[in-house]
Amino acid sequence: MSDPREGAATPERRSALAMEPATFRAIGHRLVDDLAELLASVPQRPVTPGESPADVRRGLRLGGPLPEAGDDPRELIERVAKSLFDHSLFNGHPRFFGYITSSPAPIGMFGDLLAAAANPNVGSWTLGPAATEIELEAVRWIAGLLGFPESCGGVMVSGGNMANFVGFLAARVAKCPWDVRAAGVAAGPRLRAYVSAETHTWIQKAADLFGLGTDAVRWIPCDSAMRMDVAALERTIAADRAAGDLPFLVVGTGGSVSTGAVDPLPAIAQVCRREKLWFHVDGAYGGFAAAVPEAPDELRGLALADSVAVDPHKWLYSPLEVGCALVRDPEAMRAAFSYHPVYYHFDEQVVNFVDHGLQNSRGFRALKVWLGLRHAGAAGCREAISEDIRLSRRLAEALRAHGSFEVFTTDLSIVTFRYVPDDLRGRESDSAAAERLDALNRELLDSSQRAGEVFVSNAVVHGRYALRTCIVNFHTSERDIEAIPGIFARAGRAIDERMRAGGAAPAGG
Ligand SMILES: *Cc1c(COP(=O)(O)O)cnc(C)c1O
Repeated sequence: MSDPREGAATPERRSALAMEPATFRAIGHRLVDDLAELLASVPQRPVTPGESPADVRRGLRLGGPLPEAGDDPRELIERVAKSLFDHSLFNGHPRFFGYITSSPAPIGMFGDLLAAAANPNVGSWTLGPAATEIELEAVRWIAGLLGFPESCGGVMVSGGNMANFVGFLAARVAKCPWDVRAAGVAAGPRLRAYVSAETHTWIQKAADLFGLGTDAVRWIPCDSAMRMDVAALERTIAADRAAGDLPFLVVGTGGSVSTGAVDPLPAIAQVCRREKLWFHVDGAYGGFAAAVPEAPDELRGLALADSVAVDPHKWLYSPLEVGCALVRDPEAMRAAFSYHPVYYHFDEQVVNFVDHGLQNSRGFRALKVWLGLRHAGAAGCREAISEDIRLSRRLAEALRAHGSFEVFTTDLSIVTFRYVPDDLRGRESDSAAAERLDALNRELLDSSQRAGEVFVSNAVVHGRYALRTCIVNFHTSERDIEAIPGIFARAGRAIDERMRAGGAAPAGG
């Protein structure tokens, strides 16, 4: 018999996709050198180049046909690395405070490279033995950080939306008294899900995509702090039951996307226990803050949930994409997603992640999370989250102290505020002033996003247009925070003068 590996060093097949080890090494060394420099240059760059779509296409030489012949990989990688940095918005910039997207942990960048190199298919244990076991450990560690039972089931997904879908689907199967997976939702009474008016749009997508229809969602009003009104929740459940509907799910939000408000999770948990409803917590933004003393105590009520969604690509600083769904009873995950009996390998029961979620073939996104947790340790993770919260409070203080701003909310690491010119101070509630303030702050947001000095987004707080900062950024320092009031006061004053000279809001304002 001939040696099956004979001749392996000189492959017989040549492919345009293959790369000689020496080329791979040279390109990789060069790329890491370039990246080290590019990443170090980010704080000196604008947060965003603020270019038009046409500028971006030109800068990246896009828009041509797919070339028939391939490119030289060295030049290609070198050129693309540089032009990506020249034409990107940096959520890792110390002055990026928009939306909720964190600075990426460098160890996670290596994690994604390593994951792609090993390339396990983490849909089944057999195809990804090491990767499956690492993912299980990352899930268990995340549960531990949150104070959720480590005996839970869990799965890494692409983000918060998908993690929430996992909880939603587990709830649907667990609470339908008929075989909903076979017969569908139309085979029983009308399903009802209860969420606060501040809930993220994932709930509409879930209700729509999974066949309930968006009308199945009951939007429960919020109190003045933008938290679910639990008495209204109870009344709505009772009314729906009386009408013959089937309540199955209550969603509590642990850190709302617009202001960081935390629903009264322990009180919602009590209602769910009494009413035998599935309790899901959307902790996509705020979940990890349950690990730190600065977060409101009620956030720790997520430990009472049947399922929790968190987003390592938000407050665990993993590079995009990665979300994580946790389900208290691992069997409830299998019941929602599996079409197979439990699988054994060498007499040990093993997890096939295909049975835990929506995907079939799956990448090794758990690696960057697990490496991040190991690199920072639990203490390092908690410290970074605490500091983000501290800096947010510091920002609220600085805005108040400045005198040109009205601060609306400070929850977790989100601050909402607006610029108020001197002549409107104290008149904020009269309707002409309110309109001018909305237009002025809208223009302030647009112009600041184009200028790139600092990047914030917006929210609507009790009907008022607000600027919104969210700090999930381990690069941000006290100095970056202290610059914010001055930047917005200067720009606000200039826009206000321009608007008054023009007598109206400029186009788009
Ligand atoms: C960000 C967010 C989501 C959606 O998460 P993605 O990772 O963007 O899919 C859902 N809910 C809340 C509260 C969020 O902050």
